[in-house]
Amino acid sequence: MKTLLPTSTAGSLPKPAWLAQPETLWSPWKLQDEELAEGKRDALRVSLHDQQRAGIDIVSDGEQTRQHFVTTFIEHLSGVDFEQREIVKIRDRYDASVPSVVGPVAREKPVFVEDAKFLREQTDQPIKWALPGPMTMVDTLYDGHYKSREKLAWEFARILNQEARDLAAAGVDIIQFDEPAFNVFFDEVNDWGIAALEKAIEGVECETGVHICYGYGIKANTDWKKTLGSEWRQYEEIFPKLQASNIDIVSLECQNSHVPMELIELIRGKKVMVGAIDVATNTIETPEEVAETLRKALQFVDADKLYPCTNCGMTPLSREVAQGKLKALSAGAAIVREELAR
Ligand SMILES: [Zn+2]
Repeated sequence: MKTLLPTSTAGSLPKPAWLAQPETLWSPWKLQDEELAEGKRDALRVSLHDQQRAGIDIVSDGEQTRQHFVTTFIEHLSGVDFEQREIVKIRDRYDASVPSVVGPVAREKPVFVEDAKFLREQTDQPIKWALPGPMTMVDTLYDGHYKSREKLAWEFARILNQEARDLAAAGVDIIQFDEPAFNVFFDEVNDWGIAALEKAIEGVECETGVHICYGYGIKANTDWKKTLGSEWRQYEEIFPKLQASNIDIVSLECQNSHVPMELIELIRGKKVMVGAIDVATNTIETPEEVAETLRKALQFVDADKLYPCTNCGMTPLSREVAQGKLKALSAGAAIVREELAR
């Protein structure tokens, strides 16, 4: 990456109201069949345009073709029955009705590769593509087949590896695995979570990253955050092993979180996507607030490895607020870039 402090988003961006109900997770599509396929492509173009207009350096599809960052990927796999639903506790936090694993899981055909090729055709900028991580996939399902979180994660890692190789071949520059579950199940992360992630990136010919956050700005998550106390040290449990892993980039939640910034020292050597935009509030950060977060991070990460980013995806926000936040991110990064050039 030639630009210093290249900006990007952690993942999803709001969808247009003609495609899906705005400010809603798992929002049903408003179009069908061929109209839906075309609508998704149009929304991807709009989302890309909004990112470019805001000055974002590493662009994405804004996840316009998916209803949800985990379930949409799983919908394309065999071995999972979406009719047979069970109530499970997700992230050890809230009950949800989820699909069941009923047989061996497999990827019958590529999931997002055509979408990625379409995005690649639209821009010469570096592009980042998000996939769910193996542990977070496991944690969003009921497993009546493998009956082992580790075994199922290993199967998902194999499938993700196939998809990641295809995405890299389609011209994706960075593949990011979303692992909010890494912030909850520390023993499992250290036992097999990071190993499964490394299996997923094996032989993938582009950069790879992992996004570890405290979740979307929904009530179950904001309530949980209130129980975490004044200092959030969850990252500390898994950073040493992550530092020793093959993953290139670590994406973190830093704006308005209670994560002590010095924890980033534990992953020294990695590129760090520093979340400098809070996705759980409609208040738009000022460029100076963004700059201040980045300056703090710069104490613990080398300037050429600092990637300003959002805390998480912005699907639950209005388009207007999300756009304001993207502009603030760019403007804040520009302030610090100028300071570094002095
Ligand atoms: Zn996130």
